[in-house]
Amino acid sequence: MSFDLPEDALAWQARVRAFVDQDLIPWEVEAELNNGEIPAEARGAHRSTAQAMGLPGMDAPAERGGLALSNVTQVAIYEALGRVTNGLGWCFSEAHRWMFEACNEDQIERYVLPIMRGERHECYAITEAESGSDVDGISATARRDGDDYLLNGEKWYVTGANVSDFCIFQAKIADGPHARAHALFFVDLGLPRVELVRTPLFGHTYAHHHPVYRFTDVRVPAANRIGEEGDGMTFSYAWFRRERLMIAARCCGAAARLIEEATAFAKDRIVSGQPIADYQAIQFMLADSVTELWAARLMTYECAAAHDRGDDVKALHARCSMVKLYASEMANRVADRAVQIFGGRGYMRENVAERFFRELRVDRIWEGTSEIQRLIIASGHLKRGLPDLYQQS
Ligand SMILES: Cc1cc2nc3c(=O)[nH]c(=O)nc-3n(C[C@H](O)[C@H](O)[C@H](O)COP(=O)(O)OP(=O)(O)OC[C@H]3O[C@@H](n4cnc5c(N)ncnc54)[C@H](O)[C@@H]3O)c2cc1C
Repeated sequence: MSFDLPEDALAWQARVRAFVDQDLIPWEVEAELNNGEIPAEARGAHRSTAQAMGLPGMDAPAERGGLALSNVTQVAIYEALGRVTNGLGWCFSEAHRWMFEACNEDQIERYVLPIMRGERHECYAITEAESGSDVDGISATARRDGDDYLLNGEKWYVTGANVSDFCIFQAKIADGPHARAHALFFVDLGLPRVELVRTPLFGHTYAHHHPVYRFTDVRVPAANRIGEEGDGMTFSYAWFRRERLMIAARCCGAAARLIEEATAFAKDRIVSGQPIADYQAIQFMLADSVTELWAARLMTYECAAAHDRGDDVKALHARCSMVKLYASEMANRVADRAVQIFGGRGYMRENVAERFFRELRVDRIWEGTSEIQRLIIASGHLKRGLPDLYQQS
């Protein structure tokens, strides 16, 4: 089975690939050596280009000014963005389709459309110290107080909070008829009693930080609640599905870049009078890498096509876990082999394999660890069955 990309997807991938190769990749080493930072003009130029291409609205409905691209085309875009290290591909915020379905008109005007116009930037505050894999175990609360809610909780790893002006905060309703139900809120980070606790350092070198934030009796209008009390998990699941699919796409792009770079090096590098590409040990590492990447790409594009076909959402949920699990584990194996092929050079921070070796590690952790993806897949298999994925017709 092969997967032929439609013309639209190929055209988009070529445009974004050119942006990545010409504008973003040349800044990788400078970003690596400067805590992920590059000059403001360069960062601004990247944002402008992404905005001009319409990337912030790739998933947004056409009637709202979005591009409404198919999931296959969006995967093709994210696959191209996955080729670059140092978080340089994170040069736009995205107004997702689920936001238009979940938010009312007022929220779309105040938060969602400004994301699409590049005027506002969001981050997600779900995880807590005691609750990462077990999202239902969060202890953040939202207590109704007249026309407002009072939010309390400490949120960990709020990715991009340093470059965002609001977050989507997940809490449990404190009391009333929906006590302990989940709800999501738009929370402006500049509000009183929203406090930056600390900014830990992580394995990768990104300008986007992952800080810890504390919310103490933060007052937000009830108009900032996304959907109804109790809708929180439904919208979070929609976000998880999309993000897991796009993580898989980025992992495929990263693995492709690593294979290309390691192959070019192996053909050039002479050891004991021969290019190392002539040695079978090196060939096997490349062979395993291209084989696994091919499998991951087929799965990822087929999963995107299943979204475009409108398959059952529970089946899609399991598929997104499968592609995230397989593609992230595949990319980590490819990165490990690429470091090995580069030898000592592969351990230098100026080397793409070294950077991806560190960066890809988190793709097995965030948006649900590999273990959690396996639990979701097993649950789909055991409870509902996934026969269309493996049974002969
Ligand atoms: C760099 C980074 C950025 C992040 N960005 C964000 C963000 O923007 N917003 C946000 O809300 N969160 C974010 N996260 C949080 C991320 O989603 C969580 O770290 C992840 O879901 C795992 O949760 P945990 O760290 O609490 O691990 P834990 O839940 O403590 O898990 C520890 C280990 O136990 C395993 N485990 C847990 N439960 C089970 C089980 N039932 N069966 C088998 N094994 C199990 C896990 O797989 C893991 O190996 C980010 C994390 C990182 C590292």
